[in-house]
Amino acid sequence: MIQNKEQPLIFERSRPGRVGHGLGDIDHTNEKVEDILPADYIREEEPELPEVSELQLIRHYTSLSTRNYGVDSGFYPLGSCTMKYNPKMNEDVARMPGFAHVHPYQPEEQVQGALEVMYHLQQSLAEITGMDEVTLQPAAGAQGEWTGLMMIRAFHEANGEKGRDKVIVPDSAHGTNPASAAVAGFTPVTVKTDERGLVDLDHLRELAGSDTAALMLTNPNTLGLFEEDIVEMAAIIHEAGGRLYYDGANSNAILGISRPGDMGFDVVHLNLHKTFTGPHGGGGPGSGPVGVKKELIPFLPKPVLQKTEKGFTWDSERPQSIGRVKPYYGNFGINLRAYTYIRTMGAEGLRKVSEYAVLNANYLMRRLEPYFDLPYNRHCKHEFVLSGKRQKKLGVKTLDMAKRLLDYGYHPPTIYFPINIEECMMMEPTETETKETLDEFADAMIQIAQEVEENPEIVQEAPHHTVVKRLDEALAARKPVLKYGDSNQD
Ligand SMILES: *Cc1c(COP(=O)(O)O)cnc(C)c1O
Repeated sequence: MIQNKEQPLIFERSRPGRVGHGLGDIDHTNEKVEDILPADYIREEEPELPEVSELQLIRHYTSLSTRNYGVDSGFYPLGSCTMKYNPKMNEDVARMPGFAHVHPYQPEEQVQGALEVMYHLQQSLAEITGMDEVTLQPAAGAQGEWTGLMMIRAFHEANGEKGRDKVIVPDSAHGTNPASAAVAGFTPVTVKTDERGLVDLDHLRELAGSDTAALMLTNPNTLGLFEEDIVEMAAIIHEAGGRLYYDGANSNAILGISRPGDMGFDVVHLNLHKTFTGPHGGGGPGSGPVGVKKELIPFLPKPVLQKTEKGFTWDSERPQSIGRVKPYYGNFGINLRAYTYIRTMGAEGLRKVSEYAVLNANYLMRRLEPYFDLPYNRHCKHEFVLSGKRQKKLGVKTLDMAKRLLDYGYHPPTIYFPINIEECMMMEPTETETKETLDEFADAMIQIAQEVEENPEIVQEAPHHTVVKRLDEALAARKPVLKYGDSNQD
């Protein structure tokens, strides 16, 4: 539970001369600072550090840590991010000394076990996505997108088609899609969403042509809807000579049920830190493996892991490779967690993950439907979007309702994304939540909807029960105060 108590900064607890360590004056080395550090590294003045006791220090940080909200402490309806539970067994395996203590510079023959895990993970991901080969190098979804697009660029160039400089992206796409296309040197072009919430096929036909490098798509899309025309879309793009890129960051709805490779996609990235339960958030290490169909294998980042008679080896003789996209071979620890997850779930288990993810999302959607606008009233997959239009008419914004959820002890859902939905709330409950948890959350949302009608101020001014009240987020982004003491300056 969030504590509603002001906590002084550790600097404010400081008293001159108070010490928190027990080393006293013991000089362990008999060396002076000047003997150890070069002269220009030595400060003239001592830094101003808080002077507190050990117990004050421990209490300060322990108390701060209890203010954190995470998936281990409460429900996270955070759509588009699969902020799902990370099984603890993954952590145990990642900490096994044989894995935790290997170094990427070790000779191949000493790390055959680690290479074998990577090889099997590649095989599993290829099987899950219906691709022919997978690289584990990219460290994030966005880097996977860029890697995949660079391969598509190399592929077109190898075929003598340098004029293909457009990447078609739906207006509901994750922001990284057009950004990656631009960074890879393409011009992103937007294809419209029709009234079904799906790609407008006529518009797609208009856009596809001899300058099309690729179509980038998420399926189910970011509205949580399955692009049922995908086979026809693949035909349109392939006939125009382009390639299909699948953003599989959140594959929660399709595991063991449908495969991008079978839908006609040529390149796919996965976010192991989302779908495959790598710890996620706070900018920590991620993993965005990329799978490709046969014709794109020559362009994979090098070195490529190979199974030979002598064991597992790195193949660097790849003349058409786009090169290395990351130092070493990917974020091994995250890959290991994903592999543990895949093996502990098994094929049946992964299919169940998707079945439950879809069931939970549909259940929550139908419980909330009477109280909020549902822009696309059809079965959803792993996530769905609601609109706060009805509440906006009463003067309450979606942002206000998100803030009010904090008072009920919940992390808010993603809001104002996808951008093509007015006052959007996107929700993804994930497969691990019980019906009771979903009901409790739905009750809180319904209560907020009632508050909007009866007592809008309480929602407009939320949160009331958190450590800090409503923050000016725009000011915080435009004029960040990064240093203690700066807050007094204008
Ligand atoms: C999270 C996400 C990405 C980007 O992944 P990062 O690892 O954050 O770079 C791309 N597409 C979709 C649909 C996502 O949800």
